[in-house]
Amino acid sequence: MGTHALLSPSAAHRWMNCPPSACLEREFPSSSSEVAAEGTAAHALCEHKLRKLLKLRSKRPQSDFEDDEMDRCSDDYVSFVQEQMTEIPSPMVLVEQRLDITRYVTEAFGTADCIIVGGDRLHIVDFKYGMGVLVEAEHNPQMMLYALGALELLDGIYDIQTISMSIFQPRRENVCTWSLPKEELLRWARDDLVEKARLAYMGEGEYRAGEWCTFCRAAVRCRARAEEKLRLAKEEFKYPPLITDEEIEDVLGEIPELIKWANAILAYATDAAVNHGKVWMGFKIVEGRSVRRYKDEDVVAREAESAGYTDIFDKKLISLTQMERLMGKKAFTDILDGLIEKPPGKPTLVPISDKRPSIHTGSAQLEFTAITEVH
Ligand code: SF4
Repeated sequence: MGTHALLSPSAAHRWMNCPPSACLEREFPSSSSEVAAEGTAAHALCEHKLRKLLKLRSKRPQSDFEDDEMDRCSDDYVSFVQEQMTEIPSPMVLVEQRLDITRYVTEAFGTADCIIVGGDRLHIVDFKYGMGVLVEAEHNPQMMLYALGALELLDGIYDIQTISMSIFQPRRENVCTWSLPKEELLRWARDDLVEKARLAYMGEGEYRAGEWCTFCRAAVRCRARAEEKLRLAKEEFKYPPLITDEEIEDVLGEIPELIKWANAILAYATDAAVNHGKVWMGFKIVEGRSVRRYKDEDVVAREAESAGYTDIFDKKLISLTQMERLMGKKAFTDILDGLIEKPPGKPTLVPISDKRPSIHTGSAQLEFTAITEVH
């Protein structure tokens, strides 16, 4: 996990693609989330277990987030690091190592979860507890910045030639490693990184919207992003009466991002209106839809029973996830073997790049033909 310098390695993918985003973000407060706190707790546990493995002093961290899953993930992480150590001659392992990247990026520091070094090899491992975004190791600028920082620290002591970077993301079953020669990393730093970092630090360069906008603090109010999203409305729907299949394909590709963006705008505007008194012209606050509920369940049960109604309780199995958490993965598999099924999901239209295999829906084709014929 990176520290929070203006140009933090963890946000490098964003500020390298949209350099002025780093300065623009400063105008918006950073919000701490439950997910981030959980990630911090998981990292602390990983650090503790790795230090124990290395026979270093460490006190087990306490956290409300810790559960079987976190315990298992951190064990797996430590096993992974242990495996990597066997690949490096006389390995030295650094845990939660602070790295100075200022030679390339002004004021930038980072903290690598684990660095293994030995002979001419340097291996950096980053633990990701998040599930939201699948993180790739290949050309991952955060990891490349860590690698540059690690070289600053270690290249004088070791004659490093090859650098490997691993992402260990257990809750997405994602473990990937990418290796490259030191020269290639330095070339990237010289030819690509340095100039973009300079622009980002100065708040210069071009605003460029893309998938990296998702976690940008400026995202909701960013004009470049809004223009990108509204481009659809302006261009794709400009000349009715009928849009072509190609235009529909274009729109389909934009829908997930459009929905996300629209929801973020709605959440921002709602929060401003409800909690901060902001008035949006043409809009008002009303009471949302609400459902009836019992004021006091005990009293209701007592009254219903004394009136002669006895069949008033619903006994339900806990959810599959809760059961798995309760039993632990192994017992869950042993005890309930053969009793869990996964029915086929509802056919869903996704981009061709999606990793799931495609399914064939002949009946849908017939229906579609029928509908188009009727019209
Ligand atoms: S929302 Fe996107 S385009 Fe706008 S500043 Fe942030 S990264 Fe750049």
